[in-house]
Amino acid sequence: MPLINCIFAETRNMQRLNGVEVAKTIKEQLKEKVSELQKEGKRVPHLAAIIVGNDGASMTYVNSKENDCKQVGFNSTVMRFEESTSEETLLSTIEQINSNSEIDGLIVQLPLPKHISELKVTQKISPEKDVDGFHTVSLGKLLKGEDTFIPATPYGILMMLEQYNIETSGKHCVVVGRSNIVGRPMSVLMSQNTPYGNCTVTLCHSRTRNLEHYVQQADIVVAALGKPGFIKGSMLKKGAIVIDVGITRVEDSANPKGYVLKGDVDFDDASTVASAITPVPGGVGPLTRIGLLKNTFKSYQNTNN
Ligand code: NDP
Repeated sequence: MPLINCIFAETRNMQRLNGVEVAKTIKEQLKEKVSELQKEGKRVPHLAAIIVGNDGASMTYVNSKENDCKQVGFNSTVMRFEESTSEETLLSTIEQINSNSEIDGLIVQLPLPKHISELKVTQKISPEKDVDGFHTVSLGKLLKGEDTFIPATPYGILMMLEQYNIETSGKHCVVVGRSNIVGRPMSVLMSQNTPYGNCTVTLCHSRTRNLEHYVQQADIVVAALGKPGFIKGSMLKKGAIVIDVGITRVEDSANPKGYVLKGDVDFDDASTVASAITPVPGGVGPLTRIGLLKNTFKSYQNTNN
């Protein structure tokens, strides 16, 4: 077969992992559960979010999370603070929310202004309400395979693998990026003895020598490094499953917003080699938001069952 036909055939077979569709399905399921609670006259789950300052991307994320809550019937409260807010004010607000039995989950949108310690803030959130899964207790439990809140992005990726029935057992998964909110927990989850784990895992980062060598061996690649278009088709093994976590605003004067969102994978190039791939936008992002909703529902159930 001529090369060009060959590429077309491969592109046609490539599966686009549609996070928007999966998110829609799971939202419907959550909505039904909430409407049952309402029929029984029960309180519905409640997510509180704190945002400090006026960062455009952070505000967009918090608005979307508020909107998601509305769509499934959760209550939501957004507390907005000035950039100059003191760490003490923030910590005492968190304490109040921790002791409010009407609130099931609390998230503090990161990043925070430099004068506020992210560590102190994430540690102040009660582990029982830590629906972002960033608290040391949550991450410790995750490491030990105990029941906990899985950070929303890795949770979203697991949902994607599950919904598309992607076999992971015995596969080699290469995770690129070792942050505490994405790469590192993802590497742990993929290595665990669970239906969507049991992989042999390699965790790569900025000091990895010859990154391409590892990525080329991967049956599953999770790209979470924040470098738009970094993973090219030539770096992938034929038939690899590619999960693109990256979201970077790249300037684009042709776009009315002045930017476009780009993933860490060169989608068009990688599509000629991969067997399945998540687009950006519309892949992992919508499922990250579902991860948060599911964690809030879990927290509600933990205290109301
Ligand atoms: P961080 O900046 O915290 O971590 C990036 C990681 O990538 C670091 O471990 C870094 O290594 C590694 N890295 C950077 N450059 C390279 C390189 N050239 N080669 C190999 N590794 C490299 O990012 P996050 O984990 O918070 O986010 C990653 C991306 O995912 C971002 O684009 C972010 O916007 C996006 N994101 C998307 C979400 C979604 O819902 N889809 C949710 C959260 C994040 P080192 O540790 O050595 O510095």
